[in-house]
Amino acid sequence: MLAGQPIVILRDNVEETSGMEAQHSNIMACKAIAGAVRTTLGPRGMDKMLVSPSGDVVITNDGATILHELSVEHPAAKMVVSVAEAQDDEVGDGTTTATIFIGALMEEAEILLKKGVHPTIIAKGYNLGMRKALEVLKENAISAGPENKDILVKVAETAVTGKSIESMRESITKIIVDAVLDVIQKDEAGKITVDEDDVRIKTIVGDSLDQAELVTGFVIDKTRCDVGMPKKVENAVIALISQPLEIKKTETKSKIKITSAEQVDAFSQKEKENLKVFADKIKASGANVVLCQKGIADAVQYFLSHENILAIQDVPEKDMKAFSRALGATIVTSVNDLDDSVFGNAELVEELKDIKATKFTGCKNGKTVSILIKGSNQIFVDELERAAYDGVRVVMDALEDGLFVVGAGAIDTELNLRISEYAPTVGGRIQLAIESFAKIFETIPNTLAENSGHDPIDILVDLKAEHSSGKKHAGVNVYTGKVADMYEGGVIEPMRVKKQAIESASETASLLIRVDDMMVSKSAAQMARSH
Ligand code: ADP
Ligand code: MG
Repeated sequence: MLAGQPIVILRDNVEETSGMEAQHSNIMACKAIAGAVRTTLGPRGMDKMLVSPSGDVVITNDGATILHELSVEHPAAKMVVSVAEAQDDEVGDGTTTATIFIGALMEEAEILLKKGVHPTIIAKGYNLGMRKALEVLKENAISAGPENKDILVKVAETAVTGKSIESMRESITKIIVDAVLDVIQKDEAGKITVDEDDVRIKTIVGDSLDQAELVTGFVIDKTRCDVGMPKKVENAVIALISQPLEIKKTETKSKIKITSAEQVDAFSQKEKENLKVFADKIKASGANVVLCQKGIADAVQYFLSHENILAIQDVPEKDMKAFSRALGATIVTSVNDLDDSVFGNAELVEELKDIKATKFTGCKNGKTVSILIKGSNQIFVDELERAAYDGVRVVMDALEDGLFVVGAGAIDTELNLRISEYAPTVGGRIQLAIESFAKIFETIPNTLAENSGHDPIDILVDLKAEHSSGKKHAGVNVYTGKVADMYEGGVIEPMRVKKQAIESASETASLLIRVDDMMVSKSAAQMARSH
């Protein structure tokens, strides 16, 4: 009786795609995502202009940012985006590379599937290829440390080239390297670690020239809350207070700025006394700078400025925490808890001249530095911030591992050749998959050549010839379109960036290839839309 009757095991709000169709759909999605970012690769890559539904404009060359802004729907495409995001989180660079790798791996898988190679064989081959790739990376790594500042500057330069910040490139890379070198920590074994939170990047858009500045210490984009307070405090004793320095009832009443003692008299005696207690307690504790996470009532501001105390209100919690760490200070919840044991110290707290910000230098504990980026154009400042962020991250990676590879397609060509040589030693059908894996590394020199308007085929042939004759640093000079020694050309990257891109791309591709059934549960809203 049941013969021929389909057995329904899925709820009717689940959309199923299976077999070849599922594989095909995933391959197409990955290729599409890779296609969307590949034109941005390298120093001569193009930018993308992205407009959000609310009309905000972002112009960027940054793979992670582009993928983040495109709200992709396809599940496989979403996985690619999360690989790029993980790449950005973990190493701070190489997002376009990772995305291109996944696209290429899926494209190769498509060819293998058509030849009848089983997905599990492909995944196995990719895994062997990846392991070989990590070996080749290690063998070709160059080591360098904090003393090789010239190399670090090149690493930073390689990471920031291609972003539309040409006018600032030289100054920003120097600042990036100095900033990171300022905060490195060495343990007894000489191992270097860098805490990402020790380098703060602060952007300020205002009426100023585009420029970057390295400040030893902290910069916060807030200033004293009352003009009567000092602009500058030497030998600062800093109190961090999370409690509002106001009395709820007064808050709504005291909208007027208080500038004279008579106006203060207008307050009821009681309120005035209560508010004065805040200022008196602060004064008595010995603090001369106050950072308050909440608001400070006008009357309190008045009393504090009278006592020559610099106070800043509404400091974001994130900044309060960072201050507490760098200053070795404790955040207190009440002015009653203020004493020497909770204060932080700085040699100088000073309001900056051309912009609304306050600078804390000579902090006693911690080695925090701030890269201050100023400019008049938000879009430019944002791209500069992303570049600085990438630069800081790669210099940190580079210092922690002390291992580098030559970019511009040099390491990629080496990977391509060495994995291709390895494939026949494995044999069988897996060999085909390893050969395909090797091929994906051609996409980097290929794309670099293409994006700079040169013929990728000629360049690839030359590259392979050079590498076969032992010239391991031969890469693409994107300005001349010729193959050249790119170690000398100064295109140097932390090994970790490549490693992470290769690992996560092969893992993700292997996962996706083995999928032959996709069941997407639709939300009620989506169901309604599709009906
Ligand atoms: P990703 O998001 O992958 O970091 P990028 O747009 O930053 O993408 O491009 C990185 C690629 O560009 C790397 O392969 C790097 O070696 C290469 N590259 C960077 N600077 C140069 C240069 N001056 N000449 C040639 N290639 C370069
Ligand atoms: Mg990059």
